[in-house]
Amino acid sequence: MSRVLTGPNRSEELRRLHQADVASGVLPHAKRLRWSAERLDSERQTRLRDLLAWSIEHSPFHAERLEGVDPTVFTEADLSSLPVMTKDELMSEYSWVLTNPKLSLEVVEDSVEHVDEDEYLQDRFHAVTSSGSSGRRGVFVYDWDEWTTLALMQSRSRLGTAENLPRPPGKATASLFAGAGAHLSRVMRTFLAKPNDPVHHFPMTLPVADVIRGLNATQPELLMGYPSAIDLVVREAQAGRLRISPRYVETGGELLMDQTREAVRELWGVEIDDSWAVVEGAYAFPCGQGGAMHLPDDLIIVEPVDLSGRPVPPGEPAAKLYLTNLYNRTQPLIRFEIADGLTLLDGTCLCGSAHRRIVDLTGRADIVFEYGDEVKMHPMVLRLELHDERYVAEYQVRRTTRGACIKVVTDRPDELDQIRDRVVRTLRIAGLRDPEVTVHAVDRLERLASGKLRQFIPRLGA
Ligand SMILES: [Zn+2]
Repeated sequence: MSRVLTGPNRSEELRRLHQADVASGVLPHAKRLRWSAERLDSERQTRLRDLLAWSIEHSPFHAERLEGVDPTVFTEADLSSLPVMTKDELMSEYSWVLTNPKLSLEVVEDSVEHVDEDEYLQDRFHAVTSSGSSGRRGVFVYDWDEWTTLALMQSRSRLGTAENLPRPPGKATASLFAGAGAHLSRVMRTFLAKPNDPVHHFPMTLPVADVIRGLNATQPELLMGYPSAIDLVVREAQAGRLRISPRYVETGGELLMDQTREAVRELWGVEIDDSWAVVEGAYAFPCGQGGAMHLPDDLIIVEPVDLSGRPVPPGEPAAKLYLTNLYNRTQPLIRFEIADGLTLLDGTCLCGSAHRRIVDLTGRADIVFEYGDEVKMHPMVLRLELHDERYVAEYQVRRTTRGACIKVVTDRPDELDQIRDRVVRTLRIAGLRDPEVTVHAVDRLERLASGKLRQFIPRLGA
């Protein structure tokens, strides 16, 4: 299709205007963090009714699914009567979901593909994509003000912790997140970057030696990346090849293990700031009072459910969640299924915030190793085993017919038998008779275009 390239200058000019909108929204936005539970409830109620009315009127996809729904009397408690929206449904009926006639799947995909040339679509929209670490990749589009809201939500990590002083300007930021493409981590970082404080990108899709050389040259004060990327650079630092001393370390996008926290604490004396971010339009951050993260309870509705979609009460682990985005009207997401396991906590936090918290994030709950009809295992148990192996920097486990094939990056190839024995034991406990496990040492593992690592591959021969 034909495309008018507006060039980096146009993009930068728009970004400056857009950043000014974000800056002017910071103070009113910060007040939302102190809203009472009642205020939050009433905000969600109003926004939910508006979203439903808007979607019925402007989205053919939702109009059909919401037939018979009266938005004027609808409450959050009625949500469970509405159909669930899956990523497959979104992507196969994409253009019908959207509410802006100027947008279509083709137009949004084109913007995703050219995001490194022009971060704006039609001078006002941002398009981002999910990493596809499991299942089908999704694309998501935000209009100007909706992106402003998402950027403000992203800023809550700083707003919530008043005792955290603002970072001194002019010090380097290094990102080990996605290096190119329309992944949320990358697009949002680029959008928020200040002209005098650019983000140095060292995506894990680069050779490790290049990442280490770049980090040594940059000497970042703030280091951010997927936990698996932090694991890898920690190991390089322990081996003496990486010599940096970041004052802040931020992670997101994958499950953060305690071992990674401890290693970073020991090495740099820094507490990792972890976050939960989904491209569907939500960020959650810890407040410093325990490890739980606050949801943006004024802007989204999260319904924790079990694998069959039954609601799970607060305090109990949920296998996945349905997210309703209350501020994106361009691409309405109503009860959108996200396969992240977590536990929702009710009640006011010690920090005083009434925004509910999530805890015990277990990562993708839709990855299950199945052996015949009898044995089904969440690979989480293997994650715990392998993460305990201190000589293993990275690993990838592929399910085989009778066990697993494991690739590891390790300094100690003589430990491979020990790893194999542990995994055999774990599979046996999971119910698999005579498991067959092979472990190979490799120099490096292929990463997804986002830079994320696919640690578990449940399909045979994939
Ligand atoms: Zn709190």
